[in-house]
Amino acid sequence: MITMQIDGHKITAREDQTVLDAALENGIDIPRLCHHPDLTPSGGCRLCNVEVVGSNKMQPSCTMEVSDGLEVITESEGLYDHRHSIIDLLVSDHPLDCVTCEKSGTCELQRYAYKYGISETSLDFELGREEKVDDNPMFLRDHPYCILCGRCVRVCNEVVGADAIQFGDRGFDSYVATQFDVPMGDSSCVFCGSCVQVCPTAALTHKSRIGKGREWEFDRVETICGYCGVGCRIEFAVNTEGAEPDIAYAQGTPNAPTGRFLCSKGRYGWDYAKNKERLTTPLVRKDLAYELGLTDTPWQMPETSPLSAKNTAEYFVPVDWDTAMGIITDKLTQAVREAGPGAVAGLSSARCTNEDNYLFQKLMRATIGTNNVDHCARLCHASTVAGLAAAFGSGAMTNSIGEVRDADCIFITGSNTSEAHPVIGYEVNRAVQSGATLIVCDPRHIPLAEKATIHLQSAPGTDIHVFLAMLHVMIRDELADMEFVRERTEDFESLEKSVTAMDPETAAEVSGVPAADIERAARLYALGLRQDGDSRYGGGVEGRGDSERGRSSILYAMGITQRSNGTELVKTLANLAMLGGHMGKASTGVNPLRGQANVQGACDLGALPNVYPGYQKVTDAASRAKFGEAWGSEALDEQAGLTIVEMMRAAEAGDVKAMFFMGENPMISDPNIGHVEKALRSLDFLAAVDIFLSETCQLAQVVLPATSFLEKEGTFTNTERRVQALTPVLQGPGDARPDWRIVAELGRRLAAALGTPQEQWDYSSPEQIMKEISSVAPIYGGMDYGRLGTKGLVGPCPDAEHPGTPILHVGEFRRGKGKFHAVPPRLSSEQPDEEYPYVLTTGRMLYHFHTGTMTRKSKGLSWKQKRGYVEVNEQDAEALGIADGKAVVIESRRGQIRARARVGATVPSGVVFVPFHFKEAAANLLTQDENLDPDAKIPELKACAVKVTNPAQKKQTVKEQ
Ligand code: SF4
Repeated sequence: MITMQIDGHKITAREDQTVLDAALENGIDIPRLCHHPDLTPSGGCRLCNVEVVGSNKMQPSCTMEVSDGLEVITESEGLYDHRHSIIDLLVSDHPLDCVTCEKSGTCELQRYAYKYGISETSLDFELGREEKVDDNPMFLRDHPYCILCGRCVRVCNEVVGADAIQFGDRGFDSYVATQFDVPMGDSSCVFCGSCVQVCPTAALTHKSRIGKGREWEFDRVETICGYCGVGCRIEFAVNTEGAEPDIAYAQGTPNAPTGRFLCSKGRYGWDYAKNKERLTTPLVRKDLAYELGLTDTPWQMPETSPLSAKNTAEYFVPVDWDTAMGIITDKLTQAVREAGPGAVAGLSSARCTNEDNYLFQKLMRATIGTNNVDHCARLCHASTVAGLAAAFGSGAMTNSIGEVRDADCIFITGSNTSEAHPVIGYEVNRAVQSGATLIVCDPRHIPLAEKATIHLQSAPGTDIHVFLAMLHVMIRDELADMEFVRERTEDFESLEKSVTAMDPETAAEVSGVPAADIERAARLYALGLRQDGDSRYGGGVEGRGDSERGRSSILYAMGITQRSNGTELVKTLANLAMLGGHMGKASTGVNPLRGQANVQGACDLGALPNVYPGYQKVTDAASRAKFGEAWGSEALDEQAGLTIVEMMRAAEAGDVKAMFFMGENPMISDPNIGHVEKALRSLDFLAAVDIFLSETCQLAQVVLPATSFLEKEGTFTNTERRVQALTPVLQGPGDARPDWRIVAELGRRLAAALGTPQEQWDYSSPEQIMKEISSVAPIYGGMDYGRLGTKGLVGPCPDAEHPGTPILHVGEFRRGKGKFHAVPPRLSSEQPDEEYPYVLTTGRMLYHFHTGTMTRKSKGLSWKQKRGYVEVNEQDAEALGIADGKAVVIESRRGQIRARARVGATVPSGVVFVPFHFKEAAANLLTQDENLDPDAKIPELKACAVKVTNPAQKKQTVKEQ
């Protein structure tokens, strides 16, 4: 700390602070325009200039470092005149239509014009910049309002890493432009709206707010984003003057644990909530309605697949809640009575809250009497849970999101982070900008590969060879942290033996990654080396093999887990982290990035067939007794239940007769959709709860309307295990109800029908449900709504005094010692052959989420990406006669899709990529459900063999014949 004086006040400041930061921290306000707390100071506007005692020059306080004994003056006559001139100059080129300006009340130029009494310019020239640019549905660019502060350019580069905008021209002609002045939609803009958020004037404005009110007229409601597992905190500006609240715009909040900025989905993907296709009343399918006498007209369910069917709302008749609930109760009771509790299965949802999930699994277990409950985590991170639990004793992200920016080396594999978890991508970008090395291992040239120190572009399914070779190099070159290995781990010898033969040359032959790159990656990761070859702690210069090591962090996602050897891959990443000693410390660890908003919570709360809430095994007699007592249930199922894929098989075989889904859409998300459809059609009864008539709902006999995350209370647990509270922003449409209320009501009715305690279903609020959760799940023991505040609490949090656990395995692994696993180099289960010579890999893209139920109904997001596509390598395209933007047919052993080709170098030759959000080109018609990971039972969604054809050429050949 240093001591200095500001305006005669003695203050202490940290040595690394600027004068502006020190002043603000001590409550001294200095005018500023180009400064933003999240961006590098630029010193461009000069409004924050201060006088320095002993110097006759003014200096910008935003770039001036504090020093011991420094004395500065922030207000004086000279400074007033200086600032007055700056504002006068800015106003000379700025429309003075504050009365009608959308940003009135939030415009920072207006604030200072008021402060310095400038109502019109004293200067007489206008620079006359280009007018308004209206080239996208998300935001307007209004150049005359731009003061060239550069905040938008800096946030795009420093935080988001999109580099979409920059200053065009120079001097008086300077303006903010896309590269080559192309429309925003053709630039590298990712439509995250961060530029709009930091813009101090009306130069950038969210279109959604236009005409909805001025800043002071909006209410502010903060809640948690319902899309990906990052769990960003969002502040919604809401107009509450009409009959119903109306969102004007969304923005990140300054003190959010995940940072101040959002991605395109959080920023603009909320308008689905008012889509006219929202479910507003319970529905009964017409065939069942006729059978029950609810309609007079007989009807038969068409054979057309929901993937191509039109006007499916006409399949149903609206009914009241009592009728719908009565039917579900009768049908599920009938299935239990006729075929036993095991004939019923349920899918809970990572889109729903912790409270919803807790009640759902309780319904299945305590009232229906089966462990047949699962959810989509089975299809994304089941192998993480299995692999990390075996290695560390806990299957969750080990460190927190905010730590990523302080890592020295980041190893990303099987994760297209900047598209699937964009705000974590911002943290990676920030780390790289500040000198961290980035290793990307991915068959695709994902956006972050552009920024990587090394891109290990392994052929699909061969990354295991690369990881094993990295382990080999770390042991061979004595880069391992042997002190950590000796003190904190076990079974090192079996690991050492298992990787002896996997030298980089052998791995290179299989994976196609140059041996030298594998060697370098191993060294960078093991020692935590930064871009300058040093570690943050000094002495780790590349090549010296010094034992001082930096911080290395592993991030991974479904590219690792959705594999038939997913659990082994996860164990291998755990091996890497333990061998490098990168565990139990800040900015290190093994960090699975969970897909949906509450996938961590749905797992924590027992929406899995083998564990109760808090991962207490259903096969353990003591756990059964504990939950039996808590739930008033005498005979909890002793066997682990069926997983999603097993449920579908059992349905097709007639063993499962009735299913109940809450917020799941397996008709898009599950592998081999053709098989899923067959299974669902063969059920005696299917009921589904959702917010839209999803492709799965279209096969259900009863559909119940739920409220979305914008309309409900409850909590989500994000990927870093942070439990955060939701606050309703909007009212639910029509008769839609929160899921917890639906499940509780059904619980009451089923309990009455099946003779289990009805009082177990007397819930009045999600808060009450959380109290029950904390009493039965020790990892949530200290979770209480009163403690969550704006930052939430990070689990495990066992009691009311516990502060939460941002970093796992500090000092000791949850299982005691970390366990190394010897893992064989297995390849993907379905290899390309003569008939199916290409490898299909699937994944997410930036603008859509999961099965597209919400994002495809968002105006801005669907404008940016309306249709599905197939990425094809340029060499393959040439060989197959496929042109960019033209149709291409992809066929696997299970099905066929047609989509437009996106020809380029993103995928290597021999590989095609299809995003799985689009029902018209449903990637999961092609994927396989046969070869499950033996431990996690996750199907190999990430790779299967396909053929690629050009339909135009096929037609031509037929014509010629
Ligand atoms: Fe929402 Fe995820 Fe985007 Fe954050 S990163 S705004 S949680 S979709």
